[in-house]
Amino acid sequence: MRIFGAVTLFLLVNSVVVEGFSFSSPQTRPSVRNQIGPYEARTTLKAASLASDEEKCTIQILMSDTGGGHRASANALRDALDTLHPGKIECDIVDIYTDYGPFWPVNSYVPIYKIMAEYSFLWKWFYEFGETPYGLWLNDFLLETFCFNAFRNCIERPSGSTNKRADMVISVHPLCQSLPLKILTSLDSNNKSRDVGRTTPFATVVTDLGGAHATWFNPGADKCFVPSDVLYQKALSRDLVSDQLIQYGLPIRRGFWADVGTTTEANTEDSLKGFFKFFAPKEAKTEAQSGRENIRSKLGLIEDVPTVMVVGGGDGMGGIIDQALVLGRTLNEKAIDSGKGYQMVVICGNNENAKKTLEEENWGTGVNAQIKGFVNNMDEYMRASDAIVTKAGPGTIAEASICGLPCLLSSYLPGQEEGNVPFVEESGFGKYCSDPKDIADTVTTWLASPDMLNQMKQNALKAARPSATVDIARDLAEMLFEHKRISSSKA
Ligand code: UDP
Repeated sequence: MRIFGAVTLFLLVNSVVVEGFSFSSPQTRPSVRNQIGPYEARTTLKAASLASDEEKCTIQILMSDTGGGHRASANALRDALDTLHPGKIECDIVDIYTDYGPFWPVNSYVPIYKIMAEYSFLWKWFYEFGETPYGLWLNDFLLETFCFNAFRNCIERPSGSTNKRADMVISVHPLCQSLPLKILTSLDSNNKSRDVGRTTPFATVVTDLGGAHATWFNPGADKCFVPSDVLYQKALSRDLVSDQLIQYGLPIRRGFWADVGTTTEANTEDSLKGFFKFFAPKEAKTEAQSGRENIRSKLGLIEDVPTVMVVGGGDGMGGIIDQALVLGRTLNEKAIDSGKGYQMVVICGNNENAKKTLEEENWGTGVNAQIKGFVNNMDEYMRASDAIVTKAGPGTIAEASICGLPCLLSSYLPGQEEGNVPFVEESGFGKYCSDPKDIADTVTTWLASPDMLNQMKQNALKAARPSATVDIARDLAEMLFEHKRISSSKA
């Protein structure tokens, strides 16, 4: 029983192993794409062509909803593939642990992740143990022993509108490499082997940034897409070779691909009543009204007021209640002293308790606070803001950099998100501090200094990789079509 408990705990651990980052210039890294041209030029290349115009291709994307980033990346890749090849590629995105895990805790990684993420010492221990040779072996052994058949059902399931399993499998999760590769090999070799004989293409798209767990890197994968120098090196240290590695950036949703937000979620809510003292309408709008003011107006925000957003990943983690309360009070005091108002948007994600608590707060007349639950238009909120307070989630950091948004990193998950802190600080578009009072003071200083904000904005834009998603999708489609061509020529 005790052994089972330990095993269970270990599985928990590894389930929790998720995100991390560092972009660097992809041109500086040898990659299989280097012969095609530099990073920027790559995005202008024509999409690869299909083996046959009528034929639909299918991709299964394996992930688990541990945090918001994996599904966000999976959706982004699906959208990019559809943009490049409209109607030609069907993506089947599946949370393989929740939907096919045969028993607890394997099928409960999502709620367990939320609990674990609150206890960083436990997380750290599990993360580090899971990276030891014994931890890695144990994880593989347990998954193969208990989940092989269940996960095989997932990988074998009819994909998209076809009645066959997917033509290609992509993993966007650290725990979806080893076992899926064995299952594919077994299927392709007619159950003869779990080690040799795989023909179905398999790619890993790493959705961590400055650090990533060892389970991401499996030399058996055909390609592994990494977003940063740090992870490129880590992949090499895990026995992948440079021919397997491609470095573009992190896959993120469509709204961040272009310069202007493209999502359409309407926000008619306005809670501007009572703020007339600080937020009296301007007499006349200037003709050249900025894009930022337009977005604020669309979101029901005050247009011409320094604005900060507070977020804690998809699950609203990292202590956003305390951070928002102290920041709101500090901004209100500052407004009363200076006679100039502030605006704060708190995006609580799936954290309903945080939303309810913050909605009940009386913020004072110097700060216009808007409290949101999970929003689907993060790109608009980021473009409407002057700075962001966030846990060091890789997705949020990558998105913020594209919007030129200075980042105040308020917490990180040990191991997987730790490396995101130096990425932001060394790139010059933010800093880390965890004390709510320090966070509030730092943000207040930033908002009062347009020059400082502008310098950080320029640095963020330099670190941004807005073309990464489409570049990754283009390469994945090439792999898929190549496989289809070979298969049909053999048939
Ligand atoms: N996010 C969102 N709506 C929300 C809160 C978060 O779409 O209300 C998205 C956010 O834009 C980012 C992802 O959720 O793409 C969070 O990913 P990150 O890697 O930062 O943290 P995680 O939640 O995976 O720990």
